Amino acid sequence: MRPTDTKNPDYFHRVVDCQWACPAHTPVPEYIREIAAGNYTDAYMINWRSNVFPGVLGRTCDRPCEPACRRGRVEEEPVAICRLKRVAADNKGAIAALLPAPPAQKNGKKIACIGAGPASLTVARDLAPLGYEIHVYDGEARSAGMIRSQIPRFRLPESVIDEEVGYIAACGDVQLRLGQRIDSLKDLLSQAYDAVFVGSGAPRGRDLDVPGRAEAAKRIHIGIDWLSNVSFGHIKHIGKRVIVLGGGNTAMDCCRTARRLGGEDVKVIVRSGFDEMKASPWEKEDAMHEVSPILN
Ligand code: SF4
Repeated sequence: MRPTDTKNPDYFHRVVDCQWACPAHTPVPEYIREIAAGNYTDAYMINWRSNVFPGVLGRTCDRPCEPACRRGRVEEEPVAICRLKRVAADNKGAIAALLPAPPAQKNGKKIACIGAGPASLTVARDLAPLGYEIHVYDGEARSAGMIRSQIPRFRLPESVIDEEVGYIAACGDVQLRLGQRIDSLKDLLSQAYDAVFVGSGAPRGRDLDVPGRAEAAKRIHIGIDWLSNVSFGHIKHIGKRVIVLGGGNTAMDCCRTARRLGGEDVKVIVRSGFDEMKASPWEKEDAMHEVSPILN
């Protein structure tokens, strides 16, 4: 048997199930210990180092850590790891002095990031303190990409987004070039960047080509586009009777948003069985508290 390689960080991640299940390998027990001791700021900073947007994730993460939590083996529910992240974010003190200081000297290298969503902002957060000059381009007038455009406001206030994007901008020379859509990589590459990061995401919903689709186009919306339109204030109302087709987390956001925009009879219709729906159990639960039935 080979000796344990304790130099490999994966070893430490793996022995803590929740940490291994978290895509960012957030050191969950460490920050929960800090919360238990009342050290919310320290708990927040542990999260900030590993997952960049603790306030956002504490409200919206799909929390793959929780099904892995060992408490779930001896009790009905796991530790509320995700919500504890929000507890740290909401109760922390001032953190400006704890962020990486902008470098005294830049390293002379320039990076372009396409898209001002979480991927590019994470690149900026990690590279700006090292002296890189980062230009983040986005066609939209505001930063944060899908965090801002697709997550309903009742789940995630804009103040939380602005605060956490602000921390990244403070880490060094991060220039947000908003309202500047990149349509030609060739043009961008001709601008003497040392590297280009494409973090544009894949923001496309799925349409359904059923009979009558074209005739009723005005009253049929694609989930993520509709959520964006609501988010940017282009859509403020919906009819009284609404049907949401689909059983994923986007569908759950759509039905809850429809309720808030005037939908009185909102039904979710899903092809699969209830247990096979793609939405996470807690998303289904929240939706069922607010909306009339999920029909499987
Ligand atoms: S809530 Fe999300 S980011 Fe936080 S530990 Fe769990 S999986 Fe990781």
